[in-house]
Amino acid sequence: MKNIYMDNNATTSVAPEVIEAMMPFLRDLWGNPSSMHHFGGQVGSCLEEARAKVATLIGADPSEIVFTSCGTESDNTAIRGAAEAAGNNLKVVTTRVEHPAVLGPCRWLKEQGCETIELGVDGSGQIDTADLRKALRGSHSIVSIMWANNETGVVFPIQEIAEVVKEAGGIFHTDAVQAVGKIPIDVRRTPIDMLSLSGHKLHAPKGVGALYVRKGTKIKPFLLGGHQEHGRRAGTENIPYIVGLGKACELAARHMQEEMERLAALRDKLEDGLLSSCTDTRVNGDRKSRLPNTTNISFQYIEGEAILYHLSDIGVAASSGSACTSGSLEPSHVIRAMGVPFTAAHGSIRFSLSRFNTAEEVDYVIQHMPPIVSRLRALSPFV
Ligand code: PLP
Repeated sequence: MKNIYMDNNATTSVAPEVIEAMMPFLRDLWGNPSSMHHFGGQVGSCLEEARAKVATLIGADPSEIVFTSCGTESDNTAIRGAAEAAGNNLKVVTTRVEHPAVLGPCRWLKEQGCETIELGVDGSGQIDTADLRKALRGSHSIVSIMWANNETGVVFPIQEIAEVVKEAGGIFHTDAVQAVGKIPIDVRRTPIDMLSLSGHKLHAPKGVGALYVRKGTKIKPFLLGGHQEHGRRAGTENIPYIVGLGKACELAARHMQEEMERLAALRDKLEDGLLSSCTDTRVNGDRKSRLPNTTNISFQYIEGEAILYHLSDIGVAASSGSACTSGSLEPSHVIRAMGVPFTAAHGSIRFSLSRFNTAEEVDYVIQHMPPIVSRLRALSPFV
């Protein structure tokens, strides 16, 4: 039985080097970094080393990195913290294709009486920056727009978006959970105020993340309590996991250039192979501006969940663009926002690769997919 994992936008395996880096902090170096004695001092310096590694990956100053428990906490801290600091007469601008970790706090702010605008996307999943300019007119805005979409891999024009927001005097947060470690990010070049990242998307464990907060950006802390993280996030730091995140960022920086090229070639091979061997297929998302590791393909007239079930039977893990909500299989909000036709939306499958995937695995999927598709189409009421 094969064991092929192509669902790396959901989560990634923890890299062996990351586990190795973490182990001493589970076994021997268990001090509290805030303690004055040497137990604290030993881990305190490692906490700062990890902070520097995370900062280096995105071109930040280490003092601008706040460790959190996950991408969701980073997103919530950025949006709710900036809104609280900004006070009244505030507008929140986001997009319809954000992760729930962004849509949740934006919609919560709407319930609190904040004007909220969710920008739409075109058929390729791209936004029009003219819509953003229009949305920014008037009151002071907090803008949260993702760097790369978790379902389609579509990369938004973040440089332009950030410049538009800054020209309008707004605060710009980007959810870069899917982009960090996969494509180059440099906050010295791109005028971002806040950026979220998450460990488990780049071969660190689940349960650790970070928020980049540009010097001078006004946000209120989300967790109140002690003075950890310079008063920006209370709670004793999770040292083993933070050290793991630091190591994962160091590895991502080291491998990025070669992996971007290798993964894009593997992804294209998988995509071309599936499009040519299975009829009635289409790629969802802008093929020109996409993460190198992601493809989202619709196999028309059949259910994504059924495809996943058969893939799992042959040892392949991917994911579908449908979410099981209250018993009905509805296409995801991202696929719906793109206006993908009904029969294609229901059969959308996301393959997301990592540096541990191989060409042999891609060949295996290309070889085994056509019979699965034919079998399901034979049963489809739409064919
Ligand atoms: N934002 C995006 C784009 C994501 O893909 C995810 C996770 O899937 C998150 C935020 C949430 O991150 P976490 O699972 O670390 O809370």
